[in-house]
Amino acid sequence: MPPALERLVNNLMRLPGIGEKSATRLALQILRWPSAQARELADSIAMLHDCIGLCSRCFTFSEKDPCSVCSDPKRDSSVICVVEEPGDVLAMEKAGCFNGIYHVLQGVLAPMDGIGPEQLKIKELLKRLETEEIDEVIIATSSTASGEATASYLSQVISEAGVKASRIACGIPMGTDLKYADQLTLKKAMEFRTNIS
Ligand SMILES: [Zn+2]
Repeated sequence: MPPALERLVNNLMRLPGIGEKSATRLALQILRWPSAQARELADSIAMLHDCIGLCSRCFTFSEKDPCSVCSDPKRDSSVICVVEEPGDVLAMEKAGCFNGIYHVLQGVLAPMDGIGPEQLKIKELLKRLETEEIDEVIIATSSTASGEATASYLSQVISEAGVKASRIACGIPMGTDLKYADQLTLKKAMEFRTNIS
């Protein structure tokens, strides 16, 4: 393989879910493009780090500081939704089901990998609880073991700060047949049932 092509293949292979075969297919596709199109792709990648930083209030990715959610006067700034990653903010915004503001932890607690509360944006969250008028913190970390451990740690420190903490519900995903749900999901769905009458 020509060294220039091999360099691109090796770089593409760093992306999640891209093995050597897919990387080679993508690299050959880019090679077939007009050079202006390939340059546009390279430029858009190169510009990312120059244009996008973290919002100093909620720590999501943003071109402006504060980000568009934090600076929107129509958002309810008394409710914070805590998520793991900036991608979670994008998913919530796409769903359009939340009108409060966010706080991005930039990860989850993982003591085995040396990630404790100090490595996440938890002090920054507690600082916000002191300086902003917050009525409720909704903990929306994932329902994985580390997401649950992070949620239970957060609920404790948030309650100690005198603010109401809540956790998003978990259970059967929409459109899923009950018999295909795993045992833990069924157990949680039963535990977090809601009254409909
Ligand atoms: Zn923000």
